[in-house]
Amino acid sequence: MSLSENDPRNPTELSPPRRAGVASTGPTPSRRVFLLSATAAAAAVAAGLVPRLTRPALAGDTPRASAPEHFEAAYSDAEWRKRLTPGQYEILRQEGTERPYSSPLNDEHRAGTFSCAGCALPLFSSRTKFDSHTGWPSFWTPLEHAVGTRTDTTFGMVRTEVHCRRCGGHLGHVFDDGPKPTGLRYCMNGLAMTFSPQAA
Ligand SMILES: [Zn+2]
Repeated sequence: MSLSENDPRNPTELSPPRRAGVASTGPTPSRRVFLLSATAAAAAVAAGLVPRLTRPALAGDTPRASAPEHFEAAYSDAEWRKRLTPGQYEILRQEGTERPYSSPLNDEHRAGTFSCAGCALPLFSSRTKFDSHTGWPSFWTPLEHAVGTRTDTTFGMVRTEVHCRRCGGHLGHVFDDGPKPTGLRYCMNGLAMTFSPQAA
């Protein structure tokens, strides 16, 4: 940062003996910038963005091919094919998207928990579900430590992909046009989840 940009009318401030002590012009804005950067970096780490950015997405890439070793629940492709239905496999392991209004979970309004269809990790509470009128089950926040995200640039769009924190299975995307209190819309594939009604 250049002090001359902050105070062009007072060039004497730039003399070496005074520069270190010019607390009124330099530190405040620079500290603010630093804090914002630190916050953004922490958010990126928490969201799982940083490790992913080391490998840019390429057209025709198979995003999940090298991922399983990074997740707690890791299976070979053949094992995933056995564990999942063809529909679940297409969503969770190949980042497919189900047809809107095709999942019964879109109309699931009971109290309970939505879990990963791949590894059974609880992902969303019914308390955060809302009707987004998109045809996909939508939530304004996931459960704590349930999901990871990364930037998805397929189809000429920049979106934030959402996957299961434990098995890496693709769940859907998150958008910033959701309701309060978060303003987020986690747009999920019903096929990627199972629902357990809350015990009475
Ligand atoms: Zn999972």
